[in-house]
Amino acid sequence: MQSHQIDNLTITLNKTGARQFTKVSYPIRYGRYAEIKTPAYTYQFNLNHEIKYIQGHGNGWPSPSEWLKRTVGNDWVYYLAGDYSGVRDAFGEYYLPCPSYPTNSFISRNPFKDRAVTAAIDAWHDLREKISTLASDTRPEHLKQFLKQVGQNDPVELDRKARRFHRIIAGPITVLPPDTRHVDYEVIPIIIADGCLYKCGFCRVKSRDDFTPRTRKNIIGQINQLKAFYGHNLKNYNAIFLGLHDALYADPDLIIFAAENAYDLLGLKNTHLNGAHLFLFGSVDAIIDSKMLFFDTLQSLPYSTCINIGLESADQQTLNILKKPITSEMVAQAFTKMLVINKKYSKIEITANFVYGDHLPPSHLPSFFELTRKKLDRPSGKGTVYFSPLMNGSVMEHRNIVRRFYKIKTQNPLPSYLYLIQRL
Ligand code: SF4
Repeated sequence: MQSHQIDNLTITLNKTGARQFTKVSYPIRYGRYAEIKTPAYTYQFNLNHEIKYIQGHGNGWPSPSEWLKRTVGNDWVYYLAGDYSGVRDAFGEYYLPCPSYPTNSFISRNPFKDRAVTAAIDAWHDLREKISTLASDTRPEHLKQFLKQVGQNDPVELDRKARRFHRIIAGPITVLPPDTRHVDYEVIPIIIADGCLYKCGFCRVKSRDDFTPRTRKNIIGQINQLKAFYGHNLKNYNAIFLGLHDALYADPDLIIFAAENAYDLLGLKNTHLNGAHLFLFGSVDAIIDSKMLFFDTLQSLPYSTCINIGLESADQQTLNILKKPITSEMVAQAFTKMLVINKKYSKIEITANFVYGDHLPPSHLPSFFELTRKKLDRPSGKGTVYFSPLMNGSVMEHRNIVRRFYKIKTQNPLPSYLYLIQRL
């Protein structure tokens, strides 16, 4: 690994990050990347020479442990370190991603209102223009090409690429499964079915479409186009999200077909990261109808798999208020099946979402505890429950939400975290 000095820029190509997604309390990078260091900032680039991370040194930068990340959908996300034990207990990670767009986040601090954070993004635009000028006189050739391409990846080009990405999968991903936090939300999405079954009244991310599986031809087309889209940077990915809101309800053969072809055609065996991960959402009907034979096959694939099921509440009154057209008996049945699958399969984890908020019926939380107490006689490390705060139009104080959540967490025999909605 050789560094080059041009003016006050230290440029290092082919930096090697960690091969394994790890939960650590310091900034960590994965796979391979390039870096340009200035006295004020560190800029890091993916293998397509697109800006991916910015971290400030001094200049009012909020904390040496915090950074900005740009997603493939061209959104900036600020990684907030906060108080380590608090963030870890509430979210399961040492860092709290704060997107630049409105989400279900109840964090009172908006990093994008911080002058030092917006100045870092502005400084990046200035640097890119300087780099474009420097590139023509730079030697050796590979460094010149790097600078040239960094210069070409301007905001217009990055926006064009994000639109191309969304065209391939036929629309943005409005919400990623909460389990994708295990790979820092770095997933390649492949849509195998659009729409969803329930169109619940409370849901902000639903599509108007009825549940419609994609054809095998469409799935292969997406994989091939995504392979071309990710290009050199494909090797920095080892995780697939089979979308959209209820991939588990698709024909089991279609799910396995998509997972196997993604692994083979995207070359997940030979990436810069260890192992491979698969993420899906599933509905209550999907998990109830699923056959153990399907999970046997899933277990035999070269992935570790997380399937997130939207249970929302074990209380019929709450389900009615949420306008979720399922019964509390179905929720109990789905929950039981989740526990059975988690016990039987070492490489599969079924996780669940429950809603959480001030205005829900008083029977909501007791019914959750009754369900878990009935079905579990001891704590389990598998079967994470995510609580999704519902705001009901009013802003609940962050501290209030977290404090009340801790009470639930300590009484729940399953790992419990708050769900942060992120798009792609
Ligand atoms: S919560 Fe899930 S099932 Fe209900 S509308 Fe939203 S995406 Fe569809």
